[in-house]
Formats: sequence, C-alpha cells, structure tokens
Amino acid sequence: MIPRLKPPIGLAELRAVLRLPASDSVSSFERKFARLSQQKYAIAFPYGRTGLYLLLKALGLHRNEIICPAYTCVVVPHAIVFSGNRPVFMDCADNHFNMDLEKIESAITPRTGAIIATSLFGYPVDLNRISYIRKRHPDIHIIQDCAHSFLSQWEGRPVNRAGIAAVFGLNISKTLTSIFGGMITSDDRHLHRRLLRERDQHLQPATVKKEMMRLAYLLATYPAFSSPFYGLINKIERAGFLRRFVDYYDEAVIDMPPDFNTRMSQVEAAAGIVNIDRYESIINRRRAAARYYFDHLKSTDRFQLPPDISGATYSHFVVRVPDRNVWLKKGMAAGIQLGELIEYSIPEMESYGCNPPASFPIAGRYSRTSINLPVWGGVHIAARVVKGLLS
Ligand SMILES: *Cc1c(COP(=O)(O)O)cnc(C)c1O
Repeated sequence: MIPRLKPPIGLAELRAVLRLPASDSVSSFERKFARLSQQKYAIAFPYGRTGLYLLLKALGLHRNEIICPAYTCVVVPHAIVFSGNRPVFMDCADNHFNMDLEKIESAITPRTGAIIATSLFGYPVDLNRISYIRKRHPDIHIIQDCAHSFLSQWEGRPVNRAGIAAVFGLNISKTLTSIFGGMITSDDRHLHRRLLRERDQHLQPATVKKEMMRLAYLLATYPAFSSPFYGLINKIERAGFLRRFVDYYDEAVIDMPPDFNTRMSQVEAAAGIVNIDRYESIINRRRAAARYYFDHLKSTDRFQLPPDISGATYSHFVVRVPDRNVWLKKGMAAGIQLGELIEYSIPEMESYGCNPPASFPIAGRYSRTSINLPVWGGVHIAARVVKGLLS
C-alpha cells in the first residue's frame, strides 16, 4: 500500500525525543525556524491555529472582518471567530486553487482588518497582486498562511516575507513537522513583542502529561507509517475506528482542540529541530514527484493538472477529476491511497452556512473534484502511482 502521506520523520527524530529534550528546546526551535524562513523572529505555538488566533489579538483586531479563502483548512476561520472577528470568504480563481485576489476589492469594507493570503497546496500567492493591495490599502494587514507552503516563492521572492507575519502549521501531515505545533514568523519587532505578551498571557506551560502524550504519539506514529503496518492501519481507518483520532473538524461546530491553550512541548520542539535539517531533501523529493506527474500525465485527458508554477513546494499535488470516487476506488485496487484534501468549501459547511453557498461556486467545484497524488516519495513512488493508475 502506498500511503497518501508519510511523515518525514526518522530515527534522528526518535533519538532526539528519547534523549530527554533540553528545557530550552522550544526557543532553539524558534531560532532555527527563523533562520530557515529568513525572518527575524519566530514564535512557537501548540497549533498553527493558536498562533493565528493570538496574532489577530496582537494586531489589535477585534470585531473586524478578516478576509480568508472559502477553500482552505477550516481551522483558519475557527481561529478568526475565536479571536472575536468575523471571517469573510473569497472564492478561488478559476485557474488555480488560491483565492481570487483580482476580486478582493469587492470584499473590502471599512471594517476589514486583515487578509489571510494562503498559498494553498504549496502554490505561491501572486505577490504582485499582494503589493498592489498593500499600496491601495496600507491599513489592512496581510497575513501569509504558509501551512501548506514552506518557503514557496513567487518570482524568486519567498511568500512568507510578504506581509506583517506568516503562519506555519507543523502537525504530522505537514511538509515539516514537530508532531503537532505551529509557528508565526515576522520581521516586525513591535509585533513580535506584542505576540510574546499574548502568548505569555493566554497559554499555560506544557505539562509533564502533555510531554509524555506527545512522546507516545510520535512513538506510535513512526511504525504506523512504515510499510508492513500501513495496510493494516488503513483498513482500520476505513472501518472508522480511527476516525476520532484523525478527524480534525466537525461540520457543525466552531471549536478549538482542548489543549489549544497550552504551549508547545519540549518534546515537539526537539523533534522539530531535527526535522528542519531535512528541509532541502523533503522539498526536492516533492518537486521531483510533481515534475514526474506533470511530464507523465499531461498526455492523458483523465486528469486536469494543477498549474505548473516554479517556486511551488507541493504540500499536495492536486489533480481534478469528474468522478472522484471512481478514482479513489481504482487507486485502492492498485494499492495506492489517494487523498481527497480539501473536501469541503467552508461557506457550505453547517457551521458557516450563513452565506449563500452559490456565491462560492469555484471553491465548491474544487472541493468535489480534487484528488491528491502522493508526493512524499519522490520520483520512485510517483512512477509507481502513474503506472498503477493508468494501467
Ligand atoms: C494545517 C493548516 C493550518 C494550521 O493548522 P493547525 O492544525 O492549527 O496547526 C492553517 N492553515 C492551513 C491552510 C492548514 O492546512
């Protein structure tokens, strides 16, 4: 079975967490992450969404409108709501997955406090459009959601630096991981100080119990994704037993995880510190897999391929198909697990259903027609996937 994702963790991470992490692991992780992202500051959080929630507070936004994509991870509007603000959704462009920045003026009002520019699936947002918006609306903060785009570049410029701050997600399904966790990077000293203050004020220290749970989770995850076990785990997942562990949202409610207000554990930071060293090889493998898919799928009309943009880092390689279930089954029969991420358009969800869903037709269409092909294993796995799907 080829899994849809395989966390890029190995023995080095296991060794680091078993060695009783140093008590300053979190700050070392922050320094190393700031260096990687080429930004002055990085602050670690238990989740990306906790970071976003406190960032909005640190920016002094309250009862403001925050523009974000209709097609993104649902934890983003959850964090906006928790911060006391209101999400305003934007549809995708019809030739790529990111929100349509050309139409952003129609969503801007005097209450707009920030725009969450998201480089979905690792496809960089158009930074020329972002500069234009910043010039026209200097009071509106641009926040880069980089949870999918670890240092993606638009025409050679890293997207994470093009705004007041950037949000990274570091859970086990992301490009880089610290088991759970998130990071906010910034070059603004005042914001950095305010955000540290928010963190001190709102987050409890990680307890010994949390440290132990994270350690246990990492130790359980590692074998779960190694090949002899994966088929079994996948069977269990399909049977529904694992659902309460892997599901991260409930259609009907806006909530945060129970431990969203405790700090990142030293165990997670220790894993993250080691994981950062894999950055180059992780990205190279993903890009090589994407290249292989572009080259070998362009001649078939069965998949609509994503845009081929240099500077993308491919958290996911997303193709579109008229009938997703047929392909998921076909993949399964060939021993390939295909992903269906992101399989919802947020304004269509029960919890955000206040907007008429008809105003986000493209997000709705993408949510029903996209599948993602495994990119974690480079050319070697991509070749097996192409062979399995096209035979
Ligand atoms: C994963 C993710 C986040 C952050 O998620 P957390 O689980 O809170 O760390 C933010 N935005 C997007 C688009 C994501 O995929």
